[in-house]
Amino acid sequence: METKINQTSIVLVCGDITKETTDAIVNAANEYLISGGGVDGAIHDAGGPAIMAECRQIGGCPTGQAVITTGGKLAAKYVIHTVGPVYHGGNKDEAELLQSAYRNSLKLAREKKLQSISFPAISCGVYGYPQKEAAHLAIKICIEFARENTDIKLIRHILFNRKIYDIFSEELSKLV
Ligand code: ADP
Repeated sequence: METKINQTSIVLVCGDITKETTDAIVNAANEYLISGGGVDGAIHDAGGPAIMAECRQIGGCPTGQAVITTGGKLAAKYVIHTVGPVYHGGNKDEAELLQSAYRNSLKLAREKKLQSISFPAISCGVYGYPQKEAAHLAIKICIEFARENTDIKLIRHILFNRKIYDIFSEELSKLV
C-alpha cells in the first residue's frame, strides 16, 4: 500500500527490514543499546559487529530518543536506533513516547540529509503496545512530518507479518 503526502511517499510492505535498501533503517532498540531479540537481534545479526561497537561508544538512548550508527554490512547506509516505550496500560506517557520515537528518528534522518527511511513496528513486539493504537500513532507522525518537511522522499513501514500489515493498512486508509 502506498500514499503520497506532499513530496513524500509513505509505503507499507510485509517483509524483513534487514533487506531494505533505504538510506537508513530504524531499529527498535532498548535503552542500553545492547542487542536483544526481535528486530534488534535481526539487525545486529545481519549488520555484523561494527554496529554494536558503535552502540557501545554511544552508550545508551533514553526512551523516545534516537541515535545513529552506520549500517555495517547492511545495504542501508545507516541504522537509526530508537527506543519505544514498554506498554504498561497506557497511563505512563506511552503514546507521547512512541510518537517521540518516530518523530526523533525522522528528525535525525533529516539532519543527516537522508532521503529514505524504513521503520519496523516499534514497541509492537515484546514491548507489548496494542498494535492498532501503535499503528495509528506511527502513521499519524509520519504524515505530519511529511506535511511539514519535504526533505525525506520515502518513508517505508516494514511489517513482519500479514496481520500487522493489515492493521497498519487500515490505519493509513483512515488517516489519508
Ligand atoms: P519492541 O521491543 O519495540 O516491541 P520487537 O523487536 O519485539 O520490538 O518487535 C517490533 C516489531 O518488529 C514486531 O512487530 C516484530 O514482529 C517485528 N520484527 C521482528 N523482526 C523483524 C524484521 N526482521 N523485520 C521487520 N520487523 C521485524
